[in-house]
Amino acid sequence: MKHADVIVIGAGVAGLTAARLLQEHGLTVIVLEARERVGGRVHTMRDGRVTDLGASWIHGVDGSPVAAAAEAFGMPAVEFTVGGFQPDSRPIAYYGPDGTRLSDAEAARFAADIHEVDAALAAVVAVSASDASYRDVTEQAFLRRGWDAERTQRVREYFEHRAEEQYGVQIEDLAAHGLDDDSIEGDEVVFPNGYDELPRGLAEDLDIRLGRIVTGVEWSDGVRVRTADEHFTADAAVLTVPVGVLKGGDLEISPPLPAVNAAALARLEMNAFEKVILRFPARFWDADVYAIRQQGPEGRWWHSWYDLTPLHDEPTLLTFAAGAAARGIRDWDDDRVVDAVMAQLRRLFGPEVPAPVSIHRTAWQDDPFARGSYAYMTVGSTTADHDDLATPIGGVLHIAGEATWTDDPATVPAAMLSGHRAAGRIIGRAIAIESLWTQV
Ligand SMILES: Cc1cc2nc3c(=O)[nH]c(=O)nc-3n(C[C@H](O)[C@H](O)[C@H](O)COP(=O)(O)OP(=O)(O)OC[C@H]3O[C@@H](n4cnc5c(N)ncnc54)[C@H](O)[C@@H]3O)c2cc1C
Repeated sequence: MKHADVIVIGAGVAGLTAARLLQEHGLTVIVLEARERVGGRVHTMRDGRVTDLGASWIHGVDGSPVAAAAEAFGMPAVEFTVGGFQPDSRPIAYYGPDGTRLSDAEAARFAADIHEVDAALAAVVAVSASDASYRDVTEQAFLRRGWDAERTQRVREYFEHRAEEQYGVQIEDLAAHGLDDDSIEGDEVVFPNGYDELPRGLAEDLDIRLGRIVTGVEWSDGVRVRTADEHFTADAAVLTVPVGVLKGGDLEISPPLPAVNAAALARLEMNAFEKVILRFPARFWDADVYAIRQQGPEGRWWHSWYDLTPLHDEPTLLTFAAGAAARGIRDWDDDRVVDAVMAQLRRLFGPEVPAPVSIHRTAWQDDPFARGSYAYMTVGSTTADHDDLATPIGGVLHIAGEATWTDDPATVPAAMLSGHRAAGRIIGRAIAIESLWTQV
């Protein structure tokens, strides 16, 4: 069949959510997916071990539709509440610029400084110029503290690293509002059996055509969608490709996007953010900490390691190359990455620290169907840009995906909620998101 009521482009969580809800409401739906798998940026590698290469966390399970779906799909979850770059949500081993461990009191003072700036930041952001960066507003918040240079620098580094790790971008390139919609309600969790059980659950019983790279979408009184050698027609379409693909030029939208969508898209950008997962023959760090963090210039690229050991009972650390670090290591081979990361770990834990038995690193920047890990708000953008990007086009074309959701964008829940919104708009009335997981 080359005609359906609705064509959904992209079988990530946004597309699968929209498709599933539309099909449940009696519409015929075809999902066109470029890859040979579903899930998009929720992707689990299964090579004898289970490794999430894309999303890992639900950043707060309270009220999360993703948490509800995961539970309904029987996905075991492990509590891991450090995914939002919190300074002290759970035990963290902090190391000072000289590589020595901070005492509990020193770490608590550092965390208190961060909380103080955080508390002051909302008011600074609220009155910031429309072209202010996250750097600008944090610097203003520091100035008002009257701290000495050393104390300010430690906290400055923390905010730099938070922008990098949360959004994969340097602090001066992120809009002042770029982090103020990030909130964590309840515990965070990760999935030892793989996050991809979520999209695989959502995909059941849908008509998904894999290996279909969409090259054109024409919209007028209906929608025509083309791949290299096929044409599909539909009354409406949901377009869920990442911002990087929308901006990349290989997918032609005709007529071009209306001004409101185009302006919003212009102000969003894909980031550079890669995971580096290291497995070790033995644990050399404390058993009772969730993460290891180092302060100071040596931590410019490698500052935080997350202990994934409890997931599979194998000593494992996850670190991120974000922003400049992600771009910097792009052309490095794995050995060079291991050397760079291990130089820092050996500085903190001693020269006898063993080499990892395996390393895996992601390459989302070079993935033609992602072109980065997720979108961030460039300087000059506003939080309204997310919603504006999803403004229905000609009553027939609906853009969805993580970048189109204002509340906690760049996440799996954002993708799911944006798919739900698109389905509701096509059906023409509010629909319950719960049927996504109660109907399976
Ligand atoms: C390294 C990394 C870590 C992350 N960590 C977290 C986390 O811990 N928690 C969290 O909540 N979120 C996290 N995220 C973000 C989360 O994965 C995404 O926000 C979410 O999965 C996006 O879903 P989506 O449906 O909007 O887009 P996608 O999953 O990208 O789906 C879009 C689909 O469109 C397809 N496509 C692209 N181009 C074409 C084309 N031309 N034709 C047809 N199909 C096409 C793609 O292949 C893809 O399947 C992370 C992402 C990455 C990469």
